[in-house]
Amino acid sequence: MGEKLEHLKSHMATTIDLMHAAALLSWDQEVYMPPQGVEARSQQLATLSTLAHQMFTSDETGELLAEAEAEVAGMDYDSDEASNVRVTRREYDQHTKLPTSLVSEMSLTASQAFAAWRQAREKQDYALFEPHLQKIVDLNRRKADYLGYEAHPYDALLGLFEPGMTTAQVEALFEPLKQGLIPLIQAITAQPQVDDHFLTEPEYDVERQWEFTMLLLRKMGYDFRRGRQDKAPHPFTINFANRDVRVTTRLHPHRPLSAIFGSAHEGGHALYEQGSPDKFERSVLAGGASMGVHESQSRLWENQVSRGKAFWSYYYPILQAFFPEQLEGVPFWEFYRAVNKVEPSFIRVEADEVTYNLHIFVRFELEKSLLTGELSVADLPDAWNAKYQAYLGITPPNDALGCLQDVHWSHGDIGYFPTYTLGNLISAQLYAQIKQEVPGLEDGYRNGEFAPLLTWLREKIHRHARKFTAAELLQRAIGQELDARPLLEYFYQKYAEVYQLEGLTLPAA
Ligand code: ZN
Repeated sequence: MGEKLEHLKSHMATTIDLMHAAALLSWDQEVYMPPQGVEARSQQLATLSTLAHQMFTSDETGELLAEAEAEVAGMDYDSDEASNVRVTRREYDQHTKLPTSLVSEMSLTASQAFAAWRQAREKQDYALFEPHLQKIVDLNRRKADYLGYEAHPYDALLGLFEPGMTTAQVEALFEPLKQGLIPLIQAITAQPQVDDHFLTEPEYDVERQWEFTMLLLRKMGYDFRRGRQDKAPHPFTINFANRDVRVTTRLHPHRPLSAIFGSAHEGGHALYEQGSPDKFERSVLAGGASMGVHESQSRLWENQVSRGKAFWSYYYPILQAFFPEQLEGVPFWEFYRAVNKVEPSFIRVEADEVTYNLHIFVRFELEKSLLTGELSVADLPDAWNAKYQAYLGITPPNDALGCLQDVHWSHGDIGYFPTYTLGNLISAQLYAQIKQEVPGLEDGYRNGEFAPLLTWLREKIHRHARKFTAAELLQRAIGQELDARPLLEYFYQKYAEVYQLEGLTLPAA
């Protein structure tokens, strides 16, 4: 490797150490910190992130980067060297295009907005949050202008979470998905509802739930020598290195599936991080390609695998042994249908895998029109409720169950939501391909054999870490462009059986 790139990499390694140290403080804040530690912790976190930001956006980084660019010019696009410089440039530009005054105004606005949002949600009073949201929308508009865009200001914001993706591309993927989902959900809701009382009424001992999730993570291939699971109110994954990747799960006595699918989801994220190669440690190439690709890994394990029949063929007898009183009398088929119950509901994070994407369309469409000014912040609750009625057939009874439910806007983030559905699309594309390339994949699940799946993901996805955008990665892994069709095919095939929908076919592409 050239000398200039070595300089850049060692400079960046220090910045990355600072960010990982900050991440460890955040992990502790969520998992162990006593409540009164919050003020000191916020100051410590602010100090570390400011130092990391100053170091990263310094002139020195700019100079080292320009020198490294000259050195790797002409090298293969896919090489580690060219990729390192390309990814550093992308992030450097994103961070330096925004004036410091805007960054600090955003951070101040967000901390006030977060407090106001919590109150507004608790009191079901949108008016308390409205002026803060107005400021956040205005700041995001300015942010988009500084970052620059070609067609739509939303492009600039989306690009922070999903590099290389444009609003028009997302629209072209979401529209056919929406057209396919609405008739499917209508057909499902016309059927008698699935009975799942045995999953909500009896109490499920939380210590036994915990044991079950630990078993599940081990079987997925999550390496406990390089990670640990803890309990937290909101499940998340966080890493400080590829050899220290931690997950959390949530335990509720009347919602055993929440812990199981929480661990499967976070386990999917964590396997991706544990699979990031050693050679990329302390560099910008460590980790996952984008938010959408990261979510594809978690959704693949949570939905395609852990909500599937083959998975439960293996695990249901084990779960029954963990909870004999609650499940002994429940036949497999009834349990499997309950796990896959589809029901339009108000809250995104509690939605089933089918209706989930409609929650995302609502947010994506509203964010775009807020940003262009087509929709005023004052009219947001009505617009929100109208879209829930149109897509899901239900109207939220209050704004806490409506436009105040998500934390993202109060953090100042606009442009994040589409990455959830992009993750679902990518997971379906990958899974369809894996099933073709690995014969007997799901037969293996019936014997508790999940290693062939992880081997495929390591080889095709994980080893590339952050080198490529989502589109580049899909080309290299499966030779395809992003496509909504595989997700729709998966839904139509699976739910025709779960809900015995006869004669329902997927509309032609
Ligand atoms: Zn996730």
